[in-house]
Amino acid sequence: MRIEEVASTTKSQRVATHTHIKGLGLGDDGNAIENSAGFIGQIQAREACGVVLDIIKQKKMAGRALLLTGAPGTGKTALALGIAQDLGTKVPFCPMVGSEVYSSEVKKTEVLMEHFRRAIGLRIKENKEVYEGEVTELTPEETENQMGGYGRVISHVVIGLKTVKGTKQLRLDPTIYDSLQKEKVQPGDVIYIESNSGAVKRVGRCDAYSTEYDLEAEEYVPMPKGDVHKRRQVVQDVTLHDLDSANAKPQGGTDVMAIMGQMLKPKKTEITEKLRQEINRLVNRYIDQGVAELVPGVLFIDEVHMLDIECFTYLNRALESSLAPIVVFATNRGICQVKGTEMNSPHGIPVDLLDRLLIIRTSPYTLEEMIQILAIRAKVEGIGLDQDSLAKLGEIGESASLRHAVQLLTPANVLARTAGHADITLPDVQEAAVLFHDAKFSARLLTEQADKYVH
Ligand code: ATP
Repeated sequence: MRIEEVASTTKSQRVATHTHIKGLGLGDDGNAIENSAGFIGQIQAREACGVVLDIIKQKKMAGRALLLTGAPGTGKTALALGIAQDLGTKVPFCPMVGSEVYSSEVKKTEVLMEHFRRAIGLRIKENKEVYEGEVTELTPEETENQMGGYGRVISHVVIGLKTVKGTKQLRLDPTIYDSLQKEKVQPGDVIYIESNSGAVKRVGRCDAYSTEYDLEAEEYVPMPKGDVHKRRQVVQDVTLHDLDSANAKPQGGTDVMAIMGQMLKPKKTEITEKLRQEINRLVNRYIDQGVAELVPGVLFIDEVHMLDIECFTYLNRALESSLAPIVVFATNRGICQVKGTEMNSPHGIPVDLLDRLLIIRTSPYTLEEMIQILAIRAKVEGIGLDQDSLAKLGEIGESASLRHAVQLLTPANVLARTAGHADITLPDVQEAAVLFHDAKFSARLLTEQADKYVH
């Protein structure tokens, strides 16, 4: 048996570079505060986004969407994320790129639909038996000793959304394996194991079923002392897509999520339109019963000019739906052809959709602003660097792109460490800039040396 990481299906990798953005950084009067919530500059665009935020809060955004136009690396993704953050904690943010819809296996509208559902959250309030009381932290070693092959499976749930810290291989005793079978643990379940001493271990997602007893231990839950079981309201935040995919897999369990799954036909393996409709029905029932609440998030579609007319038709309809997230498009194109048609249109977007858009323009950063953004990123990533390196990276940001300059931080840090110093110095940045080309430089090189490459 293999246990794999339990993680939400949020596309974390694309949000990773924006972790310093905590909101739009606006004051109560709606004015942008310089260097606030991780945001530098882009004052006008931030304030305009603040107005959009008000429109959203007044529930007047239905059927409309936002379009951010401006050069790459001018913070369009950061603005969309800022809106999501200011809408509240745990509001889903789902970024995608227009070209993602073109896949040989999945229909374009299917890809769009999945992203729509990733951007709609559901807050489930559940009464659950939880461990309360004084807790003693055990070290991983102690927990492992405590667990040492004894214990029983105490519960399992369909999906767990905690991010996983280090994983560790744990060899389990046949008793646990027996109880896994008795509890009818299925692939996709999250398993909690209680040792004979009372230590509780959340083991992870059960990936496959075999006769081996190896489980990947993902997290060591502190051991509670004394009276443990208490009923308490537990709040779980999931997206509609999480529910779709959890219920597309066979499962068991006793909490709300699992029960929702059991009501549906078991052994589903892919997300079908019918499954989505069933999920919607159940979600609506839970909303009516006051068990769950919808949390519309932000769907960010970068390079919107890559979408074609079929996608736009779909989007027009989807925006009208009562289950729609806030959609933020972004592009750096001017007038261009609407894909799939002969028409030219501003930003490659058909006029009927353009009519529904609120358009905000982002402006390029000054050298000083780039340096400040780079300093924030370096701090967030725990990278030390001196003034000369910052200035040089700022220069690189100006001539190539801010994104490229931000990306050079990590290799420059590696080079600094290899050279034996803790902080990045100017030669490290210079070396990193020589070793790693930015896209513009790379493209120029390819054109200049075209005869040397395979055609
Ligand atoms: P775009 O979507 O316009 O291409 P972006 O938001 O994706 O821009 P990147 O090109 O990824 O921006 O920018 C590199 C880094 O700079 C990212 O970490 C981003 O969060 C950050 N950043 C961009 N604009 C700002 C800003 N105004 N304040 C703080 N950080 C910013």
